[in-house]
Amino acid sequence: MSLLGGGIFKGMAVTLRNFVGSYFKKERLVTNDYAWQPEGDSELPQRASEYPKEQGEQLSDTTTVTNYSRNFPMLLHDGTEGSNPMDTIRCVACQICERECPPQCIYIEKMYDENGKYIKSPAKFDIDVSVCMSCQICVEVCPFDAIVMNSQFELSTPDRFDGLLLRRDDLLKSNNYYHQIHPEEAAARDQKIADEKAAKEAKKKAAAEAAKKKAAEKSKAEAEVKAKEAEGSAATESDGKQEAAE
Ligand code: SF4
Ligand code: SF4
Repeated sequence: MSLLGGGIFKGMAVTLRNFVGSYFKKERLVTNDYAWQPEGDSELPQRASEYPKEQGEQLSDTTTVTNYSRNFPMLLHDGTEGSNPMDTIRCVACQICERECPPQCIYIEKMYDENGKYIKSPAKFDIDVSVCMSCQICVEVCPFDAIVMNSQFELSTPDRFDGLLLRRDDLLKSNNYYHQIHPEEAAARDQKIADEKAAKEAKKKAAAEAAKKKAAEKSKAEAEVKAKEAEGSAATESDGKQEAAE
């Protein structure tokens, strides 16, 4: 028969063993996950994601917890590995997400060219993840499918001010990466974008056809008016000739 609350005593025994053992063995000072120590005079990593991973702990630095897990937002671009993400960034800096974010942790500045013309890109796009509550409202209100949730969670840092302020370039991730971490959601979003594009093109085509039809009707009506006018003037001319002959 197992003792009621036996697990608690077992856990306390492990803690006690490590506490006492830490006076004799340095590796007992740290938790098992991060038992790794820097070599020689090398400095400790600045972020937890920079620590070597325990085998099987994570697949990559951009850890996927599950297909549906979410942590903080990221900005999507449609480029491939090695391309400049700013060439294909989806965000147009409309600032809707900035206005709708409940704790107001998004900060955006629009980009302008040398002539002062707005070029539909963010010059700055910061998210303060020490304030973000992962509500996903920014994702829901974005009309351009430009912002989605990342599942990366290894963001701990000793610098709790600048270290937790994610800048535009930290937030930029490719659509391919989105497919890797949220395959179903990314596929559904791509399908939605393709459907919207097809509907827009069909509407444009229908409008062009309607305009063409209207122009053809107009020129037909004009031709009819001209023909009637020509008929009228021919009749007047023949009446005049008849009168002159009489
Ligand atoms: S997830 Fe919520 S709190 Fe975080 S940036 Fe988006 S809207 Fe703001
Ligand atoms: S992420 Fe979307 S809603 Fe936010 S500024 Fe960019 S385009 Fe607008």
